[in-house]
Amino acid sequence: MTSSHGHDSRIRIGISSCLLGQKVRYDGNHQHDSFLTGTLGRFFEWVPVCPEVAIGLGVPRPPIRLTGSPAKPRAVGIEDPDIDVTEKLAAYGRKQARVLDDISGYIFKSKSPSCGLERVKVYPFAGAPAKRGRGIYADAFLAAQPWLPAEEEGRLGDPRLRENFIERVFVYRRWQELLARGLTAGRLVEFHARHKLTLMAHDVEACRALDRLVAQAGSRRPKALARDYISRLMAALQRPATPARHAKVLMHLVGRLKENLNAADKAELLELIHAYRRGEALRLAPVTLLRHHFRRRPDRDIAGQTYLHPDPRELRLRGGL
Ligand code: SF4
Repeated sequence: MTSSHGHDSRIRIGISSCLLGQKVRYDGNHQHDSFLTGTLGRFFEWVPVCPEVAIGLGVPRPPIRLTGSPAKPRAVGIEDPDIDVTEKLAAYGRKQARVLDDISGYIFKSKSPSCGLERVKVYPFAGAPAKRGRGIYADAFLAAQPWLPAEEEGRLGDPRLRENFIERVFVYRRWQELLARGLTAGRLVEFHARHKLTLMAHDVEACRALDRLVAQAGSRRPKALARDYISRLMAALQRPATPARHAKVLMHLVGRLKENLNAADKAELLELIHAYRRGEALRLAPVTLLRHHFRRRPDRDIAGQTYLHPDPRELRLRGGL
């Protein structure tokens, strides 16, 4: 973590090893995902983990599956149900969550009884399986790092979910950099101020609630306040930003420029915002023009906003907004 802006620091992302092409599956195969290695891999440093190999199951190995209740399933052998690796996988998940305290996100392999995030098949003692479980390792890991941005590889094929994940990774990364520099009330206030517009594009109510929380910065213990803050921030960012909400943020920025805009400038901006909202222009178009106007008429509150000035890597990964 070398840069307060994160431009030259590496972003480490945990990932299920098989997604990188490592032959660690029970049958000796892999699940290589070329989008991850080809696109995201140019900007992220992968931290591969195969929990089943790590707990000593070996390759190849007898396959396991989730059984019992979806709320509290067990990972047992398909051929030999007496093999039960639930505790080992959970303990390894808790341990890895402590060891990997510098990762900024995690991409899990879907459907796996160890790594799957959601809708993993759970086999009841009788009847059809329910797709309602979560892999034992992933569950234990995320219980210990609940606000870490996490996704499954399959969901990253959806552009909106992908953009949302990438945005959360970069916000979380900046948060880790803040903690590394040392958390103070002033730095928390500054961090929140920088992310306000980004947050507004997701959830205006959450933004107001976090305003009130941050206002307590001088009077609450910083660690407890920080825990509250990051958990609510990351939860709010999971709510998808929509073109309508983005348009509101962009209009808010036009409002900040007020009398500094002449009628023609204002009309041009409004037209670009409406075009973006109708799906006829990228958000980058009004954002670029707004940046231009704020360069000519600097506004201290707007200058540091990550919304207008995202990390260049984030911009490239999100396809230019
Ligand atoms: S899904 Fe997880 S446990 Fe299964 S092979 Fe991939 S990394 Fe290993």
